[in-house]
Amino acid sequence: MSASSRSSSESAFDLIVLGGGSAGFNAARVAADLGKRVAIVDGAKQLGGLCILQGCMPSKTLLYATDILHHAQHAAPFGLRIPSATVDMKALHAWKKHVIADFAGYRAKAMTNPERFTLFRAHARFVDSHTVELADGRRLSARHFLIGTGSRVSVPPIPGLAATPAWTSDDVLDLDFVPKSVIVLGGGIVACELAQFLRRIGSRVTLIQRSKNILRDHSPAASEVVQQAFRDEGIDLHTDTKIEKISALPAGGVSVTFLSAGKRTVRRAEHLFNALGREPNTASLNLAAAGVKTTPAGRVATNRFQQTSQPHIYAGGDVCGPFDIVHLAVAQGELAARHAFFAPAARKKLKPIDHALLLNVVFTDPPLATIGVAEHELIASKTPHLVASYPFDDHGKSILMRQTRGYVKVIAEPKRGRILGAEIVGPQAGELIHCFSGPLAMKATVHDLLRAPWYHPTLAEILTYPLEELAEKVPVSRE
Ligand SMILES: Cc1cc2nc3c(=O)[nH]c(=O)nc-3n(C[C@H](O)[C@H](O)[C@H](O)COP(=O)(O)OP(=O)(O)OC[C@H]3O[C@@H](n4cnc5c(N)ncnc54)[C@H](O)[C@@H]3O)c2cc1C
Repeated sequence: MSASSRSSSESAFDLIVLGGGSAGFNAARVAADLGKRVAIVDGAKQLGGLCILQGCMPSKTLLYATDILHHAQHAAPFGLRIPSATVDMKALHAWKKHVIADFAGYRAKAMTNPERFTLFRAHARFVDSHTVELADGRRLSARHFLIGTGSRVSVPPIPGLAATPAWTSDDVLDLDFVPKSVIVLGGGIVACELAQFLRRIGSRVTLIQRSKNILRDHSPAASEVVQQAFRDEGIDLHTDTKIEKISALPAGGVSVTFLSAGKRTVRRAEHLFNALGREPNTASLNLAAAGVKTTPAGRVATNRFQQTSQPHIYAGGDVCGPFDIVHLAVAQGELAARHAFFAPAARKKLKPIDHALLLNVVFTDPPLATIGVAEHELIASKTPHLVASYPFDDHGKSILMRQTRGYVKVIAEPKRGRILGAEIVGPQAGELIHCFSGPLAMKATVHDLLRAPWYHPTLAEILTYPLEELAEKVPVSRE
């Protein structure tokens, strides 16, 4: 723990953010821009937050590298001879560390600017609703707080899991060797992205998922496309399972026993990777002392402006959710600071985060991306809608790229053709989905999108096919 950047006797602030990750830092930044006295309290060994240090950025650095490796290894059909494309894990690890050090250094420089923030490198807990106590006993008070303490890996009550040594995503992202074999527990985004990374660097990978499909928050059709790609790459994939027992083997390694389709199966590997999910970091905050309530799932409960049950205490990011996504954590932090400090007239004009624009990207290969409402939600709520889709195996650009798995799907409202959502699984899905984010935010119709130019031959051009199909079914808007 180090001393604060300013004198620690200056202990009454306009805003104290607990946790300097995506939510906390951006709340602090907006409040400082508004001329407020802001303290950031962060107990991490290294500054930067999950996204930079152990989340989005390291994972995408590694996944991009293994995408290149995969393309090189499968270049023969293009007439390219790349005889032995393999990974040099020490070099890849060094590259990842270099990239992350750069981003983290930039963030740390911003956080340690004494003109803008007072930084306390310590964990904190509430003493009452206006005071926090740091690990060294110092007390700080503020008019407003933002809880942005993020999340940590959870260890669900599966027999043997807690007693068996297991990697977390932090360990996988820090590998500097190729593990011989890994059992991945879970089928969510982190599990899937890193299972494919491990397979592509050359590990034998078994993935065990409880639900019927991996990526269960997505449509079964989209997750089936990714599942098939995983199987084709040699991932030993088991879905619809119930784990009976996990144990460490006397001679090293682990064993997992599970039921699937009524059959008992045992898999052994050198390493176990617990990718079963994360839980909010609330346990050490003494929220009860501040009168801050949590949801049944343990997240800090907030209203649409990020206020907790104590209106002067806000929360943002993974600690409150509802989704563990960086751009939402940033937006929540910004919204909280504006709500806390805007003058009443400006505050009245603030809009809550619009979850009808929810954007989600899974960086597998093929990637999977969605925006807006999902078709199954509209079916469940009996909301009238139109859907059209088009496969990548019938599209010029994806055919010449030999990346023909998947499809694009567009969902529109039937009266005017306003875009409600889209689902893309296939090449560059994470980039292509952004063709819809502006139009969705601006409430554009399928006719509006068809007025835009679409360059040939591009992947993006595939979107015109479902848009045209939808446009034929809805009258042209006169607005
Ligand atoms: C492997 C992986 C890959 C991911 N990839 C993506 C992706 O591609 N895209 C995406 O959108 N999201 C991704 N995410 C999710 C994303 O990283 C998180 O949603 C986001 O970083 C959360 O930000 P936050 O501000 O809530 O918390 P954090 O960034 O975790 O910040 C919380 C901070 O609070 C500090 N803290 C905790 N307790 C205390 C305390 N009591 N006192 C003081 N400080 C405290 C911690 O030290 C930490 O610095 C990924 C996550 C993982 C694990």
